[in-house]
Amino acid sequence: MKNVSQCEVLIIGGGAAGLMCAAVAAARGRNTVVLERSKKPGRKILMSGGGRCNFTNMYIEPDNYVSNNPHFCKSALSRYTQWDFIALVSRYGLEYHEKTLGQLFCDHSAKDILAILEQECEAHGASLETECEIHRITPQNDTGFIVESSDRRWQCESLVLATGGLSIPSMGATGFGYDVAKQFGHSLTARVAALVPFTVDETTLALCQSLSGVSLPARVSCESQHFSESILFTHKGLSGPAILQISNYWDPGKAVHIDLLPTLQIADYLHQQRSEKNNSLLGNVLAQHLPKRFVQALLTDATFGPEIENRPVTQLSDDTIGLIEARVHRWSVVPKGTEGWRTAEVTRGGVNVDEVSSKTFESRKQPGLYFIGEVLDVTGWLGGFNFQWAWSSAWCAGQYV
Ligand SMILES: Cc1cc2nc3c(=O)[nH]c(=O)nc-3n(C[C@H](O)[C@H](O)[C@H](O)COP(=O)(O)OP(=O)(O)OC[C@H]3O[C@@H](n4cnc5c(N)ncnc54)[C@H](O)[C@@H]3O)c2cc1C
Repeated sequence: MKNVSQCEVLIIGGGAAGLMCAAVAAARGRNTVVLERSKKPGRKILMSGGGRCNFTNMYIEPDNYVSNNPHFCKSALSRYTQWDFIALVSRYGLEYHEKTLGQLFCDHSAKDILAILEQECEAHGASLETECEIHRITPQNDTGFIVESSDRRWQCESLVLATGGLSIPSMGATGFGYDVAKQFGHSLTARVAALVPFTVDETTLALCQSLSGVSLPARVSCESQHFSESILFTHKGLSGPAILQISNYWDPGKAVHIDLLPTLQIADYLHQQRSEKNNSLLGNVLAQHLPKRFVQALLTDATFGPEIENRPVTQLSDDTIGLIEARVHRWSVVPKGTEGWRTAEVTRGGVNVDEVSSKTFESRKQPGLYFIGEVLDVTGWLGGFNFQWAWSSAWCAGQYV
């Protein structure tokens, strides 16, 4: 006979959302337990932002999120904002800085964010059980649930699924939250790896490999969405912030358009240089605005003919300038795919938000069941937006569980 433990709120998943929700529920006086499958909680927090955790963004807007229902995130983001989370970490004296575009990072270590969440849980009496594998969840006839692991049973009133997404399976990611959602009659939207580098066809791959390590500011677009940030050529394909951002909006078969010099119209510039009788060599002129290795790769393209790099700008034909313009400003790539779950930062898609209350995060299918964080079909941009979704959804659910 397994031991039976009672609690009011049982949270499955001790990541960003689970720990936040536990602290908030416990602060309301709810007897709260978090069950975490891994040896340690918050592993994605620790690996985030290159070890410094980009914990929120100063410019959070609902438009920074992708979901089948783009209105769903609005309520939570407005009730628990980035400023609320900043106020929380500031009470603990966290030192942080803005890196770029409103992205806030810890000055020292992502460990500081995890420590704050753990201290909040401890201060309010929420407890955490690690290395806990759950086998069965059974709703009770009146209210609540029985949750069983190999050696324990928990009886709880409210059950919160905070199991995150599928990215980085080696960090403890599982599809458990989705399975539980299905068990209770929820539908799921398609789940795909997002905030993830692209893989490319053989010809583009050869170019990417020859430029591996080169990074340059670009404007990357897919259909009506665009981002102006850096791209990075890698030995596997295309990466860098602008590529990761656009991957949230990309589906197989869609073309991605890349302007590799968004701050200067290269054709106008070359025409002007030619009319001013600039005798400098094309390769040198382009290298003033683009990385040298990129210029070399661009100009070794057979369509330009031999020795184009060493041709004086005064000798360029209109056709050649037009060709350079197309290559620099209108590069179009149809990615072969993405690098997948191993490197993706997040999962796009998840538990259908139309079946969850945007106010309480309670299931519309099963009273007492809640979904928060990345397990839901809400995916943020790169730049602290996903953690803010974890904090906001967790805080809101924490008011009602
Ligand atoms: C490499 C990397 C870097 C990132 N950097 C940033 C960043 O800087 N800024 C940002 O905003 N976002 C970042 N993200 C995204 C961010 O980490 C997630 O969106 C966020 O952690 C989601 O919070 P969550 O609580 O929903 O899920 P998670 O934090 O993933 O937590 C889920 C927890 O549930 C546990 N779990 C899973 N299945 C079970 C089960 N069956 N039983 C019990 N426990 C289970 C997991 O072990 C995990 O601890 C990054 C992601 C990655 C992978």
